[in-house]
Amino acid sequence: MLFLGAKKMIRLVVLGSAAALPSPRHLPSGIAIKFGDVFLFDCGEAAQRQMMKYGISYSKLRAVFLTHLHADHWIGLIGLTQTLGFFERSEPLLVFGPRGTKRLLEAVFAQKELEPSFPIEIKDVEDGIVFKDKLFSVTAFPVEHKTRALGYALEEHEKIKFDEAKARAKGIHGRLFSEIMEKGELAINGKKVKLAQVTFKENGKKIVFSGDTMPCVAVAKAAKNASLLVHDACFAEDELEKAKDKAHSTARQAAEIAKKAKVKKLLLTHFSNRYDDDRSKLVAEAQSVFPESVEAKEGLEILV
Ligand SMILES: [Zn+2]
Ligand SMILES: [Zn+2]
Repeated sequence: MLFLGAKKMIRLVVLGSAAALPSPRHLPSGIAIKFGDVFLFDCGEAAQRQMMKYGISYSKLRAVFLTHLHADHWIGLIGLTQTLGFFERSEPLLVFGPRGTKRLLEAVFAQKELEPSFPIEIKDVEDGIVFKDKLFSVTAFPVEHKTRALGYALEEHEKIKFDEAKARAKGIHGRLFSEIMEKGELAINGKKVKLAQVTFKENGKKIVFSGDTMPCVAVAKAAKNASLLVHDACFAEDELEKAKDKAHSTARQAAEIAKKAKVKKLLLTHFSNRYDDDRSKLVAEAQSVFPESVEAKEGLEILV
């Protein structure tokens, strides 16, 4: 099998791993993705400081995907946009969120004192593909929380790979590989060879963000065979009732979803403040169901 071009890694950095209450140790939700440009999934308090701390470029920030409008998931946008203004940003910033996001944020940014010096394009989204660039697309899907809430799936575009044996049998070698890739077909020894005859398609990498949610089918479906699932793990198993009542998940429930969806790795996040000192019990409960479970911590970096 022949790979075309350098393998591009997706860099994920945890900005905040706590639920609503921050502590000296932990901050509320936020994940930065560097894949071509920079993208944020939720933007909790102090997201801008965390970006600075972990070397995530402000100037490359292109879009923010908000899972819902509980303050711990978006309040960091106010500070961040002020700072982007100080850096004399002129390119637009895209902000996606569930229905109500546009109304809320436009009201915030309409205040004279908060008015950004660059365009902010705010879009309410519900279901389906909400963003596409040359490397990947982002799909939104509704999840089950106390308020209208979304999960997101970031999917790298399908890759075209050569079946080397078939290609060589058709007389393709050396620079003919890149030539047929470019042109779509070639004439070799008087015979036409089409690209599709010597290649196959492979799914790209996929990262799925549950946002705040109870265990739900929509996440399991979106996360099918994902490279990484980032899931709400607010409570330990002995707080199962509380998790249900607050429309969150236990770490073990997150692991059950990961197992069902056959993902490669699970990143547990949005931990309740009661586990501020020690989250090992939650991680152990998750690992008993899905061994590839890891705890989100501020500054943790995962290459996908
Ligand atoms: Zn939350
Ligand atoms: Zn919430």
